[in-house]
Amino acid sequence: MDNRRRRNRAAIVTAVSSARPVTRRDVAARTRLSVSAVASTVAELIADGVLVERDDAGGTSTGGRPAARLSLASGLGVLVGVHLGHGSTRVVLARPDGAVLAERSQDLDVDHRPAETLEYVGSSVLELADGEGLEHRELLGIGVAASAPVLLPSQTLGSPAMLSDWNEIDIAERLDRRTGLPVRVGNDANLGALAEADAGAGTGAEAMLYLLLSEGVGAGLVVGGELYAGASGRAGELGHLPVERDGRICRCGGRGCLETVVGARAMLDALGQAYGSSVDLDDLVTLAERGNTGVRRLLADAGRSVGFALTTVCTVLDVDRIVVGGKLGQTGDVLLDAVRQTLRATLPPVTNQEPTVVAAALGERAESLGAVHLARVAATEKLVAAG
Ligand SMILES: [Zn+2]
Repeated sequence: MDNRRRRNRAAIVTAVSSARPVTRRDVAARTRLSVSAVASTVAELIADGVLVERDDAGGTSTGGRPAARLSLASGLGVLVGVHLGHGSTRVVLARPDGAVLAERSQDLDVDHRPAETLEYVGSSVLELADGEGLEHRELLGIGVAASAPVLLPSQTLGSPAMLSDWNEIDIAERLDRRTGLPVRVGNDANLGALAEADAGAGTGAEAMLYLLLSEGVGAGLVVGGELYAGASGRAGELGHLPVERDGRICRCGGRGCLETVVGARAMLDALGQAYGSSVDLDDLVTLAERGNTGVRRLLADAGRSVGFALTTVCTVLDVDRIVVGGKLGQTGDVLLDAVRQTLRATLPPVTNQEPTVVAAALGERAESLGAVHLARVAATEKLVAAG
């Protein structure tokens, strides 16, 4: 395969991999290739079994109409999505069209145990594949969602990393060595945003902000179906937006960051007096479901703080939908109503004063499903060579 042909195939596979199914016209816009180059290379990739096209009803079409939507063929192999959360790890095996084949998760002290965590991930990938009767050559690549800013283009973790134990760890290199598969690493809130925009509560939004409210606090922005990660990969670090001038010192070194107010530690500290030091976020969710008065009060306060921080973001970015995910996103309308009311009260009249605020639809799976998107990118070279 000559260089130009390989480059065109790679550009088109990348454009089709990024999120929702795209038309030939979208591909031409994203790749800046000519319409005729797109048409001929797409035809070649379809003939090679790399791409398929679907009509609007979702059936497979062979008409080659410009508006037909292109996606990766499901039979190409299997992609792996991994979420390294603060306190747990999840591994998902999925087809290139997003259908999940198998998954596994475990509570692990991810922050303090990088070697153990990566061994769990590596062995889980191979064991899950084995359990599905897959051969190693059918595994295409791994995407990893990490609870830290992931710097571009190095894919290294930026500060504040999950904890300092991870600072020197090359996640991609370690997992590649363990599994023999190409690996890409991204930020978990960004990837959760991509998953919710693609197949969750963010579908159809023009500018969507996904808020990850769990052990840590993060955000991801998807505009027109594309993730915006910023110039260096640090966009969306909403947890470290200062909201209290004389607030507590944050793990990032800042003061009064949103995470020091609504992060897990702050929320659980506030509950400690009444419920003891062993209470965790799952207990908080359970208490919220039971309508516990103290927890409802805490969630309403958190919602107001989040809403206040979002006022700044919405004023700058003109967001039309806010999707609240993570464990706190599962606690129901008390928190969401407080966010809505605060936005209504504080957004300046020049903005869109009613961005829709909704709970995430994919639950704790969102970040690992977003990582499957990244696995498509990791697998680009293999996909380009297929057929
Ligand atoms: Zn901070």
